[in-house]
Amino acid sequence: MNWHWYAPTQIYFGRGVIMENSGVLQNMGRQALVVTGRGGSSRRNGSLEDICTALDKCHIKWELFDKVEPNPSVTTVMEGAQQAQISKADFIVGVGGGSPLDAAKAIAILAKNEITVDQLFAGHFEKVLPVVAVPTTAGTGSEVTPYSILTYSKIQNKKSIRSPYIIPAVAFLDPEYTFNIPMDTTVDTAIDAFSHAYEGFLSVNSNPISDLMALEALRLIGPELLLMARQVQPDQGNRQVLLYASLLAGMVISHTGTSVPHAMGYSFTYFKDVPHGRANGLIIPAFSRFILDKCPNSKMNLAWQAAGFTSLKDMADLLWSLTGTPAELTPEDERVFVNIASQAKNLANSPAIPDKADLAQILAITMNRQI
Ligand code: NAP
Ligand code: FE
Repeated sequence: MNWHWYAPTQIYFGRGVIMENSGVLQNMGRQALVVTGRGGSSRRNGSLEDICTALDKCHIKWELFDKVEPNPSVTTVMEGAQQAQISKADFIVGVGGGSPLDAAKAIAILAKNEITVDQLFAGHFEKVLPVVAVPTTAGTGSEVTPYSILTYSKIQNKKSIRSPYIIPAVAFLDPEYTFNIPMDTTVDTAIDAFSHAYEGFLSVNSNPISDLMALEALRLIGPELLLMARQVQPDQGNRQVLLYASLLAGMVISHTGTSVPHAMGYSFTYFKDVPHGRANGLIIPAFSRFILDKCPNSKMNLAWQAAGFTSLKDMADLLWSLTGTPAELTPEDERVFVNIASQAKNLANSPAIPDKADLAQILAITMNRQI
C-alpha cells in the first residue's frame, strides 16, 4: 500500500503558547489582518488580546476583520479579502472556531488572486498569503487542514475549497481559550472531531499514520462524549484532551477527507440551522448501518471499540442522545437533501458509495432512529 503524509504546520500546544512563541510571527511579514467571529467570543476568551499583544511585541501592524458568521459565506470572505488588499496584509491570522479559521484561509486566497468564485472552489490559484491559526473551539481541526468550507447560496449548500496552499503555516493551540465554551457548542464541536476521526478511519484514503491518529482521537473523545451525555461539565483537563483530539482528527481528515455524514450533514446545517458537528452526529449511526450492511469486513468495529462503545446501537444511542431530535423533514426536504448529498465529492471517500436510494435510506434511519 502506497501512501503520503504532508503536515507542514508548525504546531504550538499548551497554555500561554502565543506569548511564549510570539517570535515565530516575526518571519511572517510587517502587516497582518486578524480575522475573527462576529459574536465577540475571541475578546472574551483572551485569544484576541494575546495575538494582538504578540503582534505588537513583534512590531507587526495589524487590522481587525471581526465580521465572520458561523458557516461563513462567500460574501463575507470577499469583504475580508478587500480589507486585506487595502491594508496590504502580508499574512492572515484566524482566531476563533472553524468559521473564522476557514474564513481566514479563503481571505488569504482572495487577497492574492483576482479569481471568480468558481475558480476559488476549483482551487485555481497558487500564491496565497500565509495563515496563522488560533482555534478557540475543539472540533474542526481547521488549524491544520487544507480545507476552507464556505456557505454558497448559489448552490444552496456548503462547499469546500481544498488546497495545500491554505494549510496554516503556524497553529497556536491554547486550551485556556476553550475553558468557557457553552455546553451546546462543546457538544457540537466534540461530535465534529469525533466524526472526523470516524469518517477518516473508514475512508478509502486512510493510511497507517492517519489510522493511528484516528484511533487515538476516538479513544480520547468517546469517554468525553459519555461525560457530556451525563451532563458533566468538562473541566480544564477534559478541555485540553478535546483540543488535542480535535487536532489529531484534523490531521486525519487532511489526508483522508470526510464522507457521507459530512456530505449529508451540510443540508441539515444549510436548511435547518443544525450546527455542523451535531448534523454529522445525527447521520453517523445510519451511515454506520449502511457500511456494516455493504462491507461486513470493514474495520468499523475497531472504530467504535476504540471510542469505548460495545455495539453500533450503543454508539447510536449516545450520539442521538447528544444531538437531540432533528426537526421534521417534508418529503420535498428529503428529496432535496438526497439530491444534494448525491452530488458531494466526498462520498467517494466512503468504503461503500451510497446511491440515491441508499442515501434516502440513511436519511430515513436518521429521522426514525431505528438502527
Ligand atoms: P464556529 O462556527 O466557528 O463557532 C460557533 C460559535 O461558537 C460561534 O458563535 C462562536 O462565536 C462561538 N465560539 C467560538 N469559540 C468560542 C469560545 N472559546 N468560547 C465561547 N464561544 C465560542 O464553530 P466551529 O464548530 O468551530 O466551526 C464550524 C465551521 O467549521 C463550519 O463552517 C464547518 O463546516 C467548518 N469545518 C471546517 C473544517 C476544516 O477542515 N476547515 C472541518 C470541519 C468543519 P463568535 O461568533 O464570537 O466566533
Ligand atoms: Fe467537520
